[in-house]
Formats: sequence, structure tokens, C-alpha cells
Amino acid sequence: MPTTCALCHRVVPTERISDPQVVQEHHLRPEERATSPTVLLCRPCHDQIHAVFTNAELRSDYDTIEALRSADRLQDYLEWIRGTDKLDIDVETSAYVREWSCIDPNNGGSGI
Ligand SMILES: [Zn+2]
Ligand SMILES: [Zn+2]
Repeated sequence: MPTTCALCHRVVPTERISDPQVVQEHHLRPEERATSPTVLLCRPCHDQIHAVFTNAELRSDYDTIEALRSADRLQDYLEWIRGTDKLDIDVETSAYVREWSCIDPNNGGSGI
């Protein structure tokens, strides 16, 4: 079955799904996996989302596919990816997200 990515709307044809990682399930509310709604995304979109947003931002501001699709930070990416048939891209996690993921959520920045 061809699968359509919920974010970029590209169709991933059946013959490209031989790689089981090409289409991935994204939990719209990360860290609430049990109750979170999910969407199916192509691998580039999934990588990109987690590269530019922290889990906290995804939970609070981008927990619908519509919010993600209209997010400022994804517009350049979406315009680019829609013009390609790439299913594998090099994504570098933004410094911004890397910085946040280093903060221990149990420690709430109290040591700063
Ligand atoms: Zn996509
Ligand atoms: Zn995800």
C-alpha cells in the first residue's frame, strides 16, 4: 500500500517501503506515548520535526499535524522536500534542540 506522509503529503510508493524505516509513526505528544495520537510521516519529515522542535514544544504547541504543517520553522524544509523524492536526508539537530535536550527535566534549571 502506498502511504502518504501526513506532513509533506508526498506519497511513498509501495516499492520504496522495503525499508521499514521509510515511514514512521510520530507521536504528536512525545513522552505521552500511551495516550498520544499518532500520524504517519516519511522519514525525512520525522527526522526534521525532532531536529527543530523540543519534545516540550511539540507537546505544548505542535500537537496537531496542522500546527506542524504551518510552523514557521518547517516552511523552508517543506518547500524543499516537496520538490524531491528523497526518503533519506541528513538532518542535523539544531543547536537549539541539542541545548534543551541536555537540560535534566528533573532538575528544572534550579542549579543555574
Ligand atoms: Zn514527509
Ligand atoms: Zn516523533
